Parts: sequence; structure tokens; C-alpha cells
Amino acid sequence: MSASAESALAWIGLGGNLGEPRSAISNALDQLNKDSGIDVEAASSFYRTTPIGNTDQPDFINSVARLRTTYQPEALLGKLLAVEANLGRVRSEQQFGPRVVDLDLLLFDQVQMETARLTLPHPRMHLRRFVLEPLYELGGEMTLPGGRDLSACLEQVRDQSVVRDHSAESAG
Ligand code: AMP
Repeated sequence: MSASAESALAWIGLGGNLGEPRSAISNALDQLNKDSGIDVEAASSFYRTTPIGNTDQPDFINSVARLRTTYQPEALLGKLLAVEANLGRVRSEQQFGPRVVDLDLLLFDQVQMETARLTLPHPRMHLRRFVLEPLYELGGEMTLPGGRDLSACLEQVRDQSVVRDHSAESAG
């Protein structure tokens, strides 16, 4: 990424539960980092979440990464969706198989916006312990757009079984 360009700090959430989600997350970060407008600065550990409700499926693996980017929010979302589509196509008789990795744009500086394509901050991030925990690991305490502290969100989030996965140090 060009050092002179105006850049923004963005946080993304990555997760999946099909195939090899840890590799898919690492591949997604590698692909993003190869883009000249994106610098992947750091990635959290992997977190494992037991599915609630439909328990007849593998555990989910989640991570959060911090990016520096010269893109505007919608353009960055376009990059995330392209990587998702690129990695998620399972070679099978179906043209498009299930996605193995889901990428969400959580935060983009202090931007608050709502368009047909993009809502910032991500509208469900405060409900998801598997997002808040890795975000806290990576960023520590932070004030979210709108004025709430991350630690307050973590205290209020309903209990979900999220455990830090020590089988690999980090996603990056
Ligand atoms: P999902 O597959 O449930 O992650 O939904 C992806 C769709 O949600 C995308 O096509 C986006 O246009 C839309 N979307 C809206 N806000 C966001 C956001 N903050 N991060 C990722 N996707 C978003």
C-alpha cells in the first residue's frame, strides 16, 4: 500500500464451518494483503464456537483482523465479497457450493452509514461474542461509533460458548 495515500483503519470479521475454516481464513487474509489498497496489520487468534440450534454441523471458527486501507468503505466491502466468492466456490456439480468463509466489515474508522449494500458498524457485531472477544484481544478497549465501549458490549452480550482455539497461534 502506498505510504503517502490517505488511509483508514478497518476491522473485519472472518468465520466459517465447512472444509478447513482455519486455512480459508488465512487464505482470505493473504488475498486481501496482496491487494495494493489493503494492508493486513494484525489478526486475532482463532475462536471456536459450538453451533446452537442446529447442532448437527461442525463448530464455527472465527477471527478478526485489522486492516489499513486506501479504499472507501463500499469499495472495501466489494473486495471482501470478491475474496469470499473466490474462496467459497466448492468444486462440485453445483456451480456455486456452500461458502467456506464469511467476511464482514465490522468497523471503518468512526464511520456510521446505512445504504442498501452496507451498514456500518456491522449491525449485528454487538450481539456476537465470537466477534467481540477477538476484537477485544486485538484492539483492547475501544469506543465504538455511537459512543459505546467495547467492554460494555462484551458485558451485555448474551452468553455464547466461544473458546479461544490454542491449536494455532493466530490467523495472520
Ligand atoms: P452475509 O452473507 O449474511 O454476510 O451478508 C452479506 C451481505 O450483507 C452483503 O452482500 C452486503 O451487501 C451486506 N452487508 C451490509 N452491511 C455489511 C457489512 N457491514 N459487512 C458485510 N456485509 C454487509
